[in-house]
Amino acid sequence: MADRKFVYFFGNEDTEGKNSMKDLLGGKGANLAEMANLGIPVPPGFTITTEVCVLYLEKGAYPDGVLDQINDAIEKLERINNKKFGDVENPLLLSVRSGARVSMPGMMDTVLNLGLNDDTVEGLARKTGNERFAYDSYRRFLTMFGDVVLDIDHHKFESVLSAKKKEIGATLDTELKAESLKELVEIFKSIIRENTGNNFPQDPREQLQMAIDAVFNSWNNQRAITYRKLNDIPTDWGTAVNVQSMVYGNMGETSGTGVAFTRDPGTGEKEFFGEYLINAQGEDVVAGIRTPQPIATLKQTMPDAYAQLEEIYQKLEDHFKDMQDIEFTIEEGKLYMLQTRTGKRTAAAALNIAVDMVNEGLIDKETALMRVKPEQMDQLLHPMIDPESEYEIIATGLPASPGAAVGKVVFTAEHAEEMASIDEKVILVRAETSPEDIGGMDAAQGILTVRGGMTSHAAVVARGMGKPCVVGCGAITIDMTSSTFTVCDVTVKEGDYITVDGATGGLIIGKVDLITPGVTGELETLLKWADEFREMGVRTNADTPHDALVAREFGAEGIGLCRTEHMFFGDDRIPVVREMILAEDEDVRKKALKKLLPMQREDFIGIFRAMEGYPVTIRLLDPPLHEFLPKHEELANKLKILEEDASNRPKVEIESLKKVMERVESLIEINPMLGHRGCRLGITYPEIYEMQVQAIIEAACELKLEGIDIVPEIMIPLICHVNELRSAKKDLVEVAEAVIAKNCIDLDYLVGTMIELPRAALTADQIAQEAEFFSFGTNDLTQTTFGFSRDDAGKFLPFYVSDSILEADPFAVLDQDGVGELVKIGIEKGRSTRPDLKIGICGEHGGEPSSVKFGYNIGLNYVSCSPFRVPIARLAAAQAAIEKQDNS
Ligand code: ADP
Ligand code: MG
Ligand code: MG
Repeated sequence: MADRKFVYFFGNEDTEGKNSMKDLLGGKGANLAEMANLGIPVPPGFTITTEVCVLYLEKGAYPDGVLDQINDAIEKLERINNKKFGDVENPLLLSVRSGARVSMPGMMDTVLNLGLNDDTVEGLARKTGNERFAYDSYRRFLTMFGDVVLDIDHHKFESVLSAKKKEIGATLDTELKAESLKELVEIFKSIIRENTGNNFPQDPREQLQMAIDAVFNSWNNQRAITYRKLNDIPTDWGTAVNVQSMVYGNMGETSGTGVAFTRDPGTGEKEFFGEYLINAQGEDVVAGIRTPQPIATLKQTMPDAYAQLEEIYQKLEDHFKDMQDIEFTIEEGKLYMLQTRTGKRTAAAALNIAVDMVNEGLIDKETALMRVKPEQMDQLLHPMIDPESEYEIIATGLPASPGAAVGKVVFTAEHAEEMASIDEKVILVRAETSPEDIGGMDAAQGILTVRGGMTSHAAVVARGMGKPCVVGCGAITIDMTSSTFTVCDVTVKEGDYITVDGATGGLIIGKVDLITPGVTGELETLLKWADEFREMGVRTNADTPHDALVAREFGAEGIGLCRTEHMFFGDDRIPVVREMILAEDEDVRKKALKKLLPMQREDFIGIFRAMEGYPVTIRLLDPPLHEFLPKHEELANKLKILEEDASNRPKVEIESLKKVMERVESLIEINPMLGHRGCRLGITYPEIYEMQVQAIIEAACELKLEGIDIVPEIMIPLICHVNELRSAKKDLVEVAEAVIAKNCIDLDYLVGTMIELPRAALTADQIAQEAEFFSFGTNDLTQTTFGFSRDDAGKFLPFYVSDSILEADPFAVLDQDGVGELVKIGIEKGRSTRPDLKIGICGEHGGEPSSVKFGYNIGLNYVSCSPFRVPIARLAAAQAAIEKQDNS
């Protein structure tokens, strides 16, 4: 053990570490070494490895050799700096900084000016001829050591400091003279004595040992443990400790300290961005003690230092080939770099920087594509609150569907539709939404609900529509009788303006300016690059020509799921649909269906036209019929009113209402999700599917006659047994062939199925004998695999996730071990009997990056997602292909 290397020196030509040694030296230590290797001025120091941390925490003692290596390194620092640690005449002072592999909140804060005591402070004052500086450094050290190493609440020190400033009429720390600082030092030492029962340790060696111990021990403090758990950081990584010679930004008007980004982290603009403070140390800049100066002014105040800084930051960016977040200190005009790391940035900045750096020849397209997080792209596509505007968030709910919206408050779906028809912009505010609200949701600019979670009806539908939506905003109370809602003592009336921000969950009273981005500029460029690398198709889920057009603009290459049930809603249709459902015999039903046929045909023509020859998968009717009927309660109320007024009413009115009620009652199901729906409807009422197929094929024929080639993909939902598909398909093929023959046309079409039940996945080899394509309906497949009802899961899923029973909400992120395994089995079995089977997934997962990547790796031909998620899927698919390439 004794000759094992535990300590790595940095700071001059003897630097032993480098950037690639982050595991051993931590991020901060490795980058300090790398800067030194680049010839950048870094105060010399040494890094005690993460290995030591692990061994120390395991054994409670340092492995042999560590302490000797530390002593050797200190001697070296003394030689280089020509100062001595603990020396009264010319003391060397140190900073002690934690630094794990990744930067981690919860780790110990830095201690500066270590090595000061009642004697060395005097030496420092004499040596620099600056007593104020010496005592300023000492009082800072006592506070940091007291707070960080001895665990004394820092307010105890700060309140004394404030009181002192008040006493002498100073507003800024810098106005404190040496005398006052000396007094503070005495008080701080007594605070330490009172709180620990011991005197402040005067011996610099003891100070250093205590500080190093404290850094290592901080690896196991509660905050660090929690952070590691949340971010999947292994406990055995450990943290490194960096011990570094001090440089002083607090020596007067020619000294200072600052932080900067090599490009604007908010916008990504190629412009040096940062702040500094004259006569300051450490975290003064970020702590808000004084208002820092914008970095540009440094050019005037210290032109030499600025010129050096400029050269260094460009060197760093060229070297690391990414935007850097840097810390620097200027000591009497001389610049030192104290840290560099990859800078955090907004989505917009990530995008702009990635594209700019490719254009500058700094990185290649693959690197650029890997640097933008697909999930961040959501922020870039929806209207958002103008960052320049000022506003107050009065309440916050769950950010269910991104984008911001401004509109007048309405409380019912009908009212929303009315207002929209006269071009009023509205926000639909509901306790929660249900399928009948769809029209109103569509008409509104945004949706706000009091109840419901991230997978509630409002959330799912809004995401599908790409509508801004905030759900579960429990702070508001709706009063339907007065058509108002109240929030924090404010009453908002119907017709008042509000703004909702679906990206953050924020609710704002009044209008806020919005800005609407699109797929243009850098975003367009990056997505084009994504298309060059991606191998998997990206389609969209779209039920209307409008959605189809939006999705095309976002780059969708077809529709993976066109749900037909929405075509059954709408004022002109619902009466006909109800006629069909309430029909007592087949004849009456067929008559109603005949009225629906031309409407459906027009829908399909519109969608086919928007997709310009790209494939369109149309799912035949899926939900249980009762969803199209009025609610039982409503009917019962109506009946009560009619009966009370019976003498004035024609008898037939009451009779017919009673009949409707009977029919509604007969359709009530205990568990509609597992009930009479999907292909079970199509098999028991074949006329419905026949009408739909007729409409689809007629529409395709009509376009074909216009010269637009369409290969409709007819999808039969909820198959669990191959015989269901066989039975349903036989009739449908007959209908299709008849239409084609009648139009004397040659039209290709496919009949396939949705795989959304475990049995279907497990018998996919049999099903593939009948199906020409599969689309995994991962929403229902998740419900049926877990046995969770999506509409009810809100009661326990959030708890499951927060309690780590489940890693993520399986309705948002595909459960790869369970549901994903079924998809894998389905693909393998399906292709075993039909090798050219075309396979995709639709559902929320089709636009979720990790699920998209998973889908690519198990051999999907395409994913399909809501229009606004198409760009996310394009990028995620490209990343999946690049990652695979890199791994092989
Ligand atoms: P964090 O990880 O919180 O950024 P750091 O160790 O980087 O902690 O630093 C805390 C502050 O102390 C920063 O402003 C940094 O620049 C400053 N600092 C750290 N080491 C030194 C040093 N040797 N001389 C002067 N200032 C230092
Ligand atoms: Mg900090
Ligand atoms: Mg730092």
